[in-house]
Amino acid sequence: MYDVIVVGAGIAGLTAALYSKRLGLNTLVISRDIGGQAILAPEIQNYPGFISINGFELVKKLQEHVMNYDVEMVFDEVIEVREKRRAFTVRTASGTEYQALALILAIGKAPRELNVPGEKEFKGRGVSYCTICDAPLFREKKVALVGVGEAGLHGALILSEVVKECYWIFPTPNPGTSDKERLNYLKSKGNVKFMPNTKVIRIEGDTRVRSIVIKNLKDNKEETIRVDGLFVEMGYVTKTEFLKGFIELNEKGEIVIDKLCRTSKEGVFAAGDVTDIPYKQAVISAGQGATAALSAYNYIARIKGLAKVTSDWKHIKVKTKESKEGFFLRI
Ligand SMILES: Cc1cc2nc3c(=O)[nH]c(=O)nc-3n(C[C@H](O)[C@H](O)[C@H](O)COP(=O)(O)OP(=O)(O)OC[C@H]3O[C@@H](n4cnc5c(N)ncnc54)[C@H](O)[C@@H]3O)c2cc1C
Repeated sequence: MYDVIVVGAGIAGLTAALYSKRLGLNTLVISRDIGGQAILAPEIQNYPGFISINGFELVKKLQEHVMNYDVEMVFDEVIEVREKRRAFTVRTASGTEYQALALILAIGKAPRELNVPGEKEFKGRGVSYCTICDAPLFREKKVALVGVGEAGLHGALILSEVVKECYWIFPTPNPGTSDKERLNYLKSKGNVKFMPNTKVIRIEGDTRVRSIVIKNLKDNKEETIRVDGLFVEMGYVTKTEFLKGFIELNEKGEIVIDKLCRTSKEGVFAAGDVTDIPYKQAVISAGQGATAALSAYNYIARIKGLAKVTSDWKHIKVKTKESKEGFFLRI
């Protein structure tokens, strides 16, 4: 039985794990990946301490920091959480179950999907949700992009630099951006075909994507176009269906928390983009990860009869791989 299971290893989850382990809690992190959304950020200019840092580099530094405390980590997807007699059981997609006294949910946001036939099958085999990451894999190829507004335009601009031809598909009469300067620049590249009033209804292929079927929303005509890849840039959503009925979620599926990152269920805490806080930023996720871990510690301290972390709590130094001379001080 762990003291704390942190679900998610983005900025919020990694920070929660760092705090939790430093507080002496037996901590397990379960995550699909390390870094979450931050690794997709080409440049972060507002994370304190770094005038400019690539998201991947920031995650690498945070990961090194966490691993310096030998935090146990499992790569898997949590699909169910249950509570029984003050203990929480977490079940993963691989069928493994883990138990803990407290949970910190830091599962962030994930790209919005198209929900069309073929999408699941060809995910990672031609269907991509990260243009900036995967565009180079389609150099001189023919691709399609779905997305409106800033996300769509950003994707189209990246692809225009790399691919031979790109169909930019959007369901509205125009691309949903007033950025005339960048739109004109995109048009001047000549390799992006604007496809207004259109949506993708099917993705087809064999071992990977070979074509998409699109529908014109004005005349309902369907057409198959041959492409090597499909990029989806439709923003990010919370994926908290597995938490429905377990803790309170708002209408957007975000986890409702209080200022101590407590959820509606005692012993369950949440941090970062998955919560109902309005500002989704890396530094805020880190701050909430820390808050959630301190709150989890106090919850466990109450169960185990330990001293609580208080508002005048300041000093804590833990033995790490690098500094063997540390001491652990609980106030
Ligand atoms: C392209 C881009 C650029 C950005 N630029 C900036 C910027 O310049 N400045 C800034 O402050 N912010 C920026 N952000 C926002 C910032 O990256 C996020 O606010 C922050 O990274 C959120 O961290 P998080 O840990 O809350 O969630 P996430 O990063 O979403 O991490 C969630 C983690 O949980 C895991 N997970 C999800 N569900 C499960 C499950 N069921 N089981 C197991 N694991 C699961 C995921 O795999 C992931 O590891 C940007 C975001 C993007 C996408």
